[in-house]
Amino acid sequence: MPTASESSLMTPCDDIYLSIAIPTPLRQMFDYLPPDSAADLQPGMRVQVPFGPRKLIGIIESIKPDSDYPKDKLKKVSALPDQQSLIPDDIMQLCRWASSYYHYSLGETLLQALPKALRQGKPASREKVALWSLSAPLDEDTTASLKRAHKQLKAVQWLSEYPEGISEPELREVGFSKAILTQLQKKQLVQVREIELLDRPFTEYQNPVRQTSLTLNPEQAFALEGIQETSSFHPILLDGVTGSGKTEVYLQAIEATLKAGKQALVLVPEIGLTPQTVKRFRSRFSVPVACLHSGLSDGERLQGWLAASRATAGVLIATRSGIFTPMPKLGLIIVDEEHDNSYKQQDTLRYNARDLAIYRAKIADCPVVLGSATPSLETLVNARKGRFSHLEIKIRAGHSKPPTLELLDIRQQILHEGFAQSLLTRMRDTLDKGEQVMVFLNRRGYAPSLICHDCGEVTDCPHCDAHMTLHRQPPHMHCHHCDYQTTIPWSCPKCHSKNLQPVGQGTERCEQVLEQMFPDTPLIRVDRDSTRRKNALSEILDTIHTGEPCILLGTQMLAKGHHFPDVTMVAVVNADSGLFSSDFRGLEKMGQLILQVAGRAGREKKPGHVVIQTHNPQHPALQMLVSQQYSRFADKLLSERKQLKLPPEGYLALFRTESHSSTAAENLLKGLRNLLLNHLQDGSVRVLGPIPAPMEKRQGRYRYQLFLQSYQRPALHRTLDLAVKHLDGMKLPKGVRWTLDVDPQEMT
Ligand code: ADP
Ligand code: ZN
Ligand code: ZN
Repeated sequence: MPTASESSLMTPCDDIYLSIAIPTPLRQMFDYLPPDSAADLQPGMRVQVPFGPRKLIGIIESIKPDSDYPKDKLKKVSALPDQQSLIPDDIMQLCRWASSYYHYSLGETLLQALPKALRQGKPASREKVALWSLSAPLDEDTTASLKRAHKQLKAVQWLSEYPEGISEPELREVGFSKAILTQLQKKQLVQVREIELLDRPFTEYQNPVRQTSLTLNPEQAFALEGIQETSSFHPILLDGVTGSGKTEVYLQAIEATLKAGKQALVLVPEIGLTPQTVKRFRSRFSVPVACLHSGLSDGERLQGWLAASRATAGVLIATRSGIFTPMPKLGLIIVDEEHDNSYKQQDTLRYNARDLAIYRAKIADCPVVLGSATPSLETLVNARKGRFSHLEIKIRAGHSKPPTLELLDIRQQILHEGFAQSLLTRMRDTLDKGEQVMVFLNRRGYAPSLICHDCGEVTDCPHCDAHMTLHRQPPHMHCHHCDYQTTIPWSCPKCHSKNLQPVGQGTERCEQVLEQMFPDTPLIRVDRDSTRRKNALSEILDTIHTGEPCILLGTQMLAKGHHFPDVTMVAVVNADSGLFSSDFRGLEKMGQLILQVAGRAGREKKPGHVVIQTHNPQHPALQMLVSQQYSRFADKLLSERKQLKLPPEGYLALFRTESHSSTAAENLLKGLRNLLLNHLQDGSVRVLGPIPAPMEKRQGRYRYQLFLQSYQRPALHRTLDLAVKHLDGMKLPKGVRWTLDVDPQEMT
C-alpha cells in the first residue's frame, strides 16, 4: 500500500505510474511515480524504491496511465540500477501464470526469477574472469611427463580443447579442482589471465559442434525425428529404458537447434548434474554451455544467468530454478528424468519446473522433451490422452544388454547385519571376476534409531515426532527432519541403563559390516555425509572409473544419471520400506528408484544383474518391477489412483498450517473448511480434513493439513481463490502460519 510521500516537490513525467513488484508476501503490486530522470522505462526493469523505512529492490510489473491513489500520496522510485529490462515479456508471462496457478504473490514470484545477486541489487554486469589455458600446445613430452598424474593429464587434455581459455567454475563443473590447476601452474604447464568477458553471441561460432555424434539406432532416430517434426510447440514424452541413449538423442536435437540459431535449455535433477554430464555436453559443443546449480557461488550463478540471457551461451544446463532464466533465442527445452522429485520446489513458490517447462515451451513455441525410463504417472496420463506424443526406446544403446532382476526372499533366512548369505556369496563371485558391485541402501547414518535394551525407550528428537539417527562419523545423534544434533547419550534417560543398542541399518553401519566381510576390497560410500566436501563426489567417481573391483555403497545419490561401466551387480538391501508408505506416491517412487538403481548395472559389454532383498516376494508391484514391465506397474497404480480420485486422476491441493499450539493450527483449517463447505454446493470440489500431518510435530511446531480434491481444475482453482482471499483477509492468530501447495508431491 502506498504511504504518503514526505516530499514530492518535483513534478515527475506526465501521468506515468509504475506498478512495482516488491518481495513481500502481500498479494498486490505497489504504485510508484517514475524517477526524475526517467529514461526508457520498461516492464521487467529493476528499481530501487522506498518501502517503509527501507529501500528495496523491486521490478516494474507494468507502466500505466493512472493509479487508484492520488498522485501526491505516491512515492517516487529512488534509483534505476539497469539500462534495460532484466525480465523479458516471456518470463513475465511465465511468472504471472505461476503466480496465479500456485496462488502465490506475483511480487515474490518475479523476484525469485532473478539470481540472488540481482535480487540484492548487484549490477547486472559481466565481471572479470580468470581464464586458464595451456602455456604451450600439448606435445608428447608433456603427455609423457604426466603419465603418473592421471588427473593432471586429463586436465591438460581438456584445456587443449580450449585455446581461448576456460574459467575456474567451468573447470570445476567438469571435475578439475583448483588444486590440480595450481599443481600444473607450478610445473609451468598452464597459465592464468584475467580478462573482461565479452558478450559474443553463440550464433557467431562457425560450427556449434566440436565432436561428431554417434550413429543413432532406429528407435533413437525415430525419437529424434519426433522431436524435430516441427520447430513449434509440441510436448514429447521420451520414454526410454536406462542406458537407451536418451542423452545422445538430446545432444543431437540440441545440435540441430544450435545450427538453426536457437538456444536449448536442459533441466536436470538436483543431483543429476554430475561432472560427467557437464563434460559430455561441453565436449560435444563448441559454443558456450552455461550451468546453473547449487554448487556455484552467487557471483558464478549471475554470470551463468547473464550468459544465457544475453545469448552468449547456446546451451543452459540447470536445476529446477533454471526454468526462469531468460533465453532470447529459446528453441528447445529438455527435462531429463522428468519424474524426479527435485523438480518440485517444497517451499515458498511451490512450483513444479517440469510443468512450468511445458508452459514455457508454449510461450516460446518450441518443442519440449520430457525424458525418463520411469515416467511419472502424470506424464504417462498426458501421453495416453494424446496431449503429449509418446516416443519409446525399448532397447539399450550400443552393445549393452538390459540387466536381469531378481527378488531374493529373505523370510526366515539368517541375515548377517541385513545381508542374506546368498547375497554375500554373489557379491564375492562378482568381485572375484574383477567386476564392481553396487549396494543400495536409502538411509544415511549408522542406524535409524537407538533403543534402550532394558526398558525400550527410543531416543527421539525433542522438536519432532521422529527418532534421532545415530551417526558414528563423527559420533553424534542427528534428526534428519529438523537438523537438530546432539551427543550420543551414555545412558538411558528413563532407566539409566547403559545398554543402548542401535536398531536398523544405515550406510555407515553397512560400510562397517562390508569392510569386515570383504577386507581386501576397496569400499566407497556415497551419501550426503561422505560427499559434503567440495570435489568429494568427483574424486569418488574417478576412483570408480578406474574400473578396479570395488564395492560402491550408497543412497539414491547413486541412482541418478551416473554411468558406471564396470558395475555388473546391484544389490538392493531392503525394498520393503517403500511397499507400505503412508504417502500415496510411495509405491510409485519406490518403483522408479528400484528401476533407476537397476539401470546402473551392466551398462557396457558385461551384462548386469540386480538382486532385491524383500520379505514380500509375492507383492504384485515388485513382481511387475522385476519383470521390468514399468508400464504395467504404472497401469496398476493408475487404477488405484482412479478409485481413490487421486492425481493424476483428479487434482489435489493442500493447505498446511503450523503453530506452537496444535489447536490453533487445527482451528484455522477448521474455519477454512466450514467456509468452503458453505460455498461449495455443487460437489465439484471435495474438502478433506483437517487432519494432523504424518509427522505432526516438526521443529517444535504442530502441523495440520486440509485437502481439496477435484476432477475439474477450474473449479478447484476458483475454490482456492476463495480460500486464499479468506485467509489473506483475516487476522491470523499469533504464531500460526499457513501455506498452500498446489499439486503437492509429498504429503509430509
Ligand atoms: P540414457 O541417457 O538413456 O541413460 P545414454 O545416452 O547415456 O543413455 O547412453 C548410454 C550409453 O550408450 C552411453 O555410453 C552412450 O555413449 C552409448 N550410446 C548411446 N547411443 C548410442 C549409439 N547410437 N551407438 C552406440 N552407443 C550409443
Ligand atoms: Zn531404559
Ligand atoms: Zn527434529
